[in-house]
Amino acid sequence: MNLENLVRKNILQMKAYSSARDEFTKSVGQMLFMDANENPFSSGYNRYPDPYATQLRSKIAVQKQIPEENILLGNGSDEVLDLLFRLFCEPKKDEIIITPPTYGMYKVLANLNEVGIKKVNLNSNFDLVSSHILEALDENTKLIFICSPNNPSGNLMSVQSIKKILANFEGIVVIDEAYIDFSDRSSFIRELNMYPNLVVIQTFSKAWAHAGIRLGMCFASKEIIALLNKIKPPYNLNQLTQEKALQVLDEAETYQNQIQMLISEREILKSKLEKIAWVQKVYTSDANFLLTQVDEADKRYQQLIDFGVVVRNRTKEVNCSNCLRISLGTPDENAYLLTILQQLS
Ligand SMILES: *Cc1c(COP(=O)(O)O)cnc(C)c1O
Repeated sequence: MNLENLVRKNILQMKAYSSARDEFTKSVGQMLFMDANENPFSSGYNRYPDPYATQLRSKIAVQKQIPEENILLGNGSDEVLDLLFRLFCEPKKDEIIITPPTYGMYKVLANLNEVGIKKVNLNSNFDLVSSHILEALDENTKLIFICSPNNPSGNLMSVQSIKKILANFEGIVVIDEAYIDFSDRSSFIRELNMYPNLVVIQTFSKAWAHAGIRLGMCFASKEIIALLNKIKPPYNLNQLTQEKALQVLDEAETYQNQIQMLISEREILKSKLEKIAWVQKVYTSDANFLLTQVDEADKRYQQLIDFGVVVRNRTKEVNCSNCLRISLGTPDENAYLLTILQQLS
């Protein structure tokens, strides 16, 4: 892989915005800052935040056992995904590969950035077909998005297929691990040294229970991270988020316990759903939701709405006809859902 050939030429040539806080991040507390036109009276938040979220990144580095230089943080994974499009994809020329049924944002971001989309469907077990993906490549293919565990199906993708793609593609393979903490598989972060074209994405929105603070994590080679740092908005991670995330990481045990509870709830709910007459199939899940095939998805979706429960109707997605995606709730919420479902005829 030749990173310089993959990156858009304008980005190689451009100069990054140099923020007032860039050069003196380490001197906070020692210097009198009269450079950024901030209001000098303290409010706790009158100063711009650290553009590189240094403290938070070093804490995540310890938690994930990976060097800080391999980490970039974003305003949700969605920002990180957008930065990858902007870094690698020339509008109106380059393309990405997605594997339906999959997370909807890849397509939205491709459309927003005027980047072409090639679709290579997952097979009927919702697994990757690496040979089909490799056949679909051409010289304009820059990114392949692999969601594992996959949204909306919930399963992990075969490691062998992922590695085959990583080894045979000259562009970037993005593995979206938003749900990895609900599975028993280790993260592809551990493979970063093996594959210079690997980018792994995780988030605080699911297992870490903080969708509201908007914090996405990107793990990649230090060269890719340096390029992403060059193009990201200088203050993309606000100070409230940085502070809250530091606190969340200190409470890792709480979230670990919640994850264990959600995993056990997942298996209980799955077996109870399977006993309902009009439920046709509940897919095995490595995530915090269950893709559930019913007799008539539109009808069941509406019935649930009438009882005040909102699930996601995925019936229009590839290979998902009559499927609802049900996110796990608390044990009480799941029990309530079941009492409703068992009444429906
Ligand atoms: C929920 C989800 C995310 C999280 O996005 P954020 O912007 O970090 O909240 C990312 N990828 C997938 C596949 C998801 O389902």
